[in-house]
Amino acid sequence: MILLKAVPRPAQLTDEVVRQLTELFKADKSQRVWDKLYIKEALLLMSHGKCCYCECKIDEESKYLEVEHYHPKDKYEDEVLAWENLLPACKRCNGKKRNHDSKIDPIIHPVKTDPRQELAYSNYLFKSTTVLGQTTVDVLDLNDRKRLVDKRYSIGEKTKDMLAIAIDLIKSNDNFELSLNFQIRVYNILRNIMREGQPNSAYSAVVATAILTGDAYHTIKQTLSNLSLWDVDMQQLETELYNIAYLPSQA
Ligand SMILES: [Zn+2]
Repeated sequence: MILLKAVPRPAQLTDEVVRQLTELFKADKSQRVWDKLYIKEALLLMSHGKCCYCECKIDEESKYLEVEHYHPKDKYEDEVLAWENLLPACKRCNGKKRNHDSKIDPIIHPVKTDPRQELAYSNYLFKSTTVLGQTTVDVLDLNDRKRLVDKRYSIGEKTKDMLAIAIDLIKSNDNFELSLNFQIRVYNILRNIMREGQPNSAYSAVVATAILTGDAYHTIKQTLSNLSLWDVDMQQLETELYNIAYLPSQA
C-alpha cells in the first residue's frame, strides 16, 4: 500500500448529480449509482491504475475494478457518492472489506494516511503495532499468502536477482572503469529496476523496498556516481523510491 494523492471530483459529478443519485440509491439500494465510467477513470488516475490497498494492477477496461466505499454505503447512504469516500479497489480487497464499518473501526485511508506510518513490512509480510494498522491488515487480509504474499515474494526476489546481476557485472570485470559497454549495461539494469518501483508499477512498495534494503543498490549507485553516470533521471527515480519504500527507520 502506498500513499495516494487525491484527484479532483469529476466535472460530471456535480452537486446536483450527487444529490439526485444519492436519493435514487436511498430509494432503491439495488441502484449502482457509483458505477460510472467517469468515476472509475478518475479513481484509477488517482491510484495509477492499481488497487488502492494491495497495489495489484487494474485495467480501466476491466470489470475487476470495484468502486470501494471507504465508509460502507449500506450504513452511510449519504456518502454513496461523496467523492472522498470513493476508492479504487480490486475484487479481492473490496470483497474482504465488505461492510466493515470503518467509521467505528477505521482502516488506513490511503489518501489521508501514509500507510508507512501505521504499517511495518518485512519478509513480505505487513505487521503493525497500532490499532489502525492491525485492523487494516486483518480486515483486508494483507498477508493473504496465496494472493498477495507469494506475489510479493516473487517480485521482490526478482528485484534482488537483478541487482545481483548488476553487482556481478561490476565485480567480475577487472576493467569495469574502462568498459563503457559494461557501464551502460549496469546503468540500464538499474534504471529498469528503479522504474518498477515507481508509483505506476504494480506492487511498487515491494519493489522500492527490495531495492533500497541491503547493500547492492548503494554499491551500484556509488559505482555509477564515481564514473559520473548518476544523472538527474536516476536521482528522480530514487527520490520516488524513498517516497514509497518501507524502510526500518519508518516502522
Ligand atoms: Zn486489492
